[in-house]
Amino acid sequence: MKEIFEWNRFLFNDLPAIFLVEVLVRALIMYVIILVALRSSGKRGVKQLSIYELVLIIGLGSAAGDPMFYEDVGIIPAITVFIAIIFLYRITTWLSGKNKKFGKILEGKPVTLITNGRFSIENFKKENLAQTEFFSELRHQNVEHLGQIRIGIIEPTGEISLFFYEDKDVKPGLPLIPEVFSKSVMLISEQAVYACTFCGDTQEIGKGLLKCPVCKRNSWVKAINNKRQS
Ligand SMILES: [Zn+2]
Repeated sequence: MKEIFEWNRFLFNDLPAIFLVEVLVRALIMYVIILVALRSSGKRGVKQLSIYELVLIIGLGSAAGDPMFYEDVGIIPAITVFIAIIFLYRITTWLSGKNKKFGKILEGKPVTLITNGRFSIENFKKENLAQTEFFSELRHQNVEHLGQIRIGIIEPTGEISLFFYEDKDVKPGLPLIPEVFSKSVMLISEQAVYACTFCGDTQEIGKGLLKCPVCKRNSWVKAINNKRQS
């Protein structure tokens, strides 16, 4: 019967310590196999993973690690898994290049989230994006307010592509800087151009309450129209 904290099992899986030498050799072999496999997948480095690459890495992960230190997992079955996964990866990427429909189903397609300095709220809902997360992405790309953006698209990889207005065309927009954004109000006391905190629509408002004509909410923040810093 097994007991807990049997040190030989706990530390060495009941194997002689010399097995560690085999572990080193196994790790070396698997390391080379992983390198060869990833190179033969046709990928270089990875910046943003496509869904295929993610599947590839998850698929290879366990097959790569287990034979390094499980004495009852052989190297050859792991190599077979590698060959199969790489083969499938190549087939699916080839198919999605050949057949646009197939690609769209598996990868998703680019979705326009910002048009003319305002959120396309219908698409935004569909994409299931948190506004705070999206704001953070935009700030990463040095966007201070929505009025700087002509078109914003979320790519199938999750990356965000932005097309900016020329400086002279930048218009007042929803500020993305937290300190400014947090000063949103419902009751407006001073005439200015305001941006809806939900959809980014801008309106010149005098005093009082106003429902956003686009999304029907009524939380506003003063719009800013700074140019882009290059
Ligand atoms: Zn709105």
